[in-house]
Amino acid sequence: MSFTSLGLSPALIKALVNQKYDKPYPIQQKAIPAILKGKDVLGIAQTGSGKTASYVLPILMNLEGKTTTKSRNVNTLVVVPTRELAMQVKEVFITFGNALAYPVQSMAVFGGASINPQMKGLYGVNVLIATPGRLLELVDSKALSLAQVETLVLDEADKMLNMGFKDEMNRILALLPPKRQNLLFSATLSKEVNNINQLILHDPLVVKIEAEVESIDLINQTAYAVEEGQKGPLLRYLIKTKDLKQVLVFTSSVYKADHVADKLRKNGINAEATHSKRSQGARTERLREFKEGRLQVLVATDLLSRGIDIEFLPYVINYELPRSPKDYVHRIGRTGRAESPGEAVSFVAAEDQHHFKIIQKKMGKTVEMIEVDNIDLKGY
Ligand code: AMP
Repeated sequence: MSFTSLGLSPALIKALVNQKYDKPYPIQQKAIPAILKGKDVLGIAQTGSGKTASYVLPILMNLEGKTTTKSRNVNTLVVVPTRELAMQVKEVFITFGNALAYPVQSMAVFGGASINPQMKGLYGVNVLIATPGRLLELVDSKALSLAQVETLVLDEADKMLNMGFKDEMNRILALLPPKRQNLLFSATLSKEVNNINQLILHDPLVVKIEAEVESIDLINQTAYAVEEGQKGPLLRYLIKTKDLKQVLVFTSSVYKADHVADKLRKNGINAEATHSKRSQGARTERLREFKEGRLQVLVATDLLSRGIDIEFLPYVINYELPRSPKDYVHRIGRTGRAESPGEAVSFVAAEDQHHFKIIQKKMGKTVEMIEVDNIDLKGY
């Protein structure tokens, strides 16, 4: 199946070729024609499935003829849980929006960045991508109106609910006109997500993509049985002996992230930490450096485990295991995306062995365990 057969315009087809999107992913094959027709869609799909383009492309097509009048009324509202996802979705709107003959103004707004430029910038915006809290602040200060929203997208709805945005989401829904197109994406279909579906979706097309399993199969997973004190040397050993150029390392606390990055720098490795205690500006900059290959090692807390797309990231290291098996999958899901293979390595201390067994069971895969005592870590 080709993108042309899905009903997309020649301008978008050309942009897809430029972006090296050869053929539509399964979620795109199903969702694009339905969204073009104005249908509601429920997409149960993960980051990595191609879900973003599955709604961005048809929304852009449907905007033809609707973007000429400038006001503070947005036409399309995309609500997302995190700043990172907001920026990533905006990039996709801009990349494909630029290919069109009619102008589409897309903007991302989120907390942690100053509100004034966002208030000013909203005039004339057609597509707004927003985190819930900042969106409501902007509505409250009359910087925008949601009264004429024609299309609503809730992306990573499960995460939004897990992050405690339920009240904000309900307030946002109450501000929208009753007649609109609703597109809801969620990695899981929990009871809470289902409640929202029932509240907002009308006769939706349901698309379920088992991306979690697909992408996991693309990843070579290994684990090292280590003692806490061996983790630092083992990390440096792996980076140096495998000549790793771009590594994402996960820790479970902000303190640990800073500590690990510090130690790496002291050992001459180009590393930085990123987490919730850093300013938005610093986080954006770190991520940019890392994506562009100017930063070799990015040490992050779970903040980054979902929602950011780093293509072809070859290596993820769990310096500490995440609490939930789901987070484990999201962390290592950075690799093996867009059909390219990756490596995921976990450091497993004795007290985490049982927890790691549960992770493997939930994931349905057994991970090879290497005894670190068989490796000579002297000098690392
Ligand atoms: P998403 O699930 O939306 O985060 O997309 C995951 C990744 O797949 C992103 O890097 C996209 O650029 C890429 N992608 C999405 N659709 C396609 C496609 N049809 N062909 C190739 N790459 C794609």
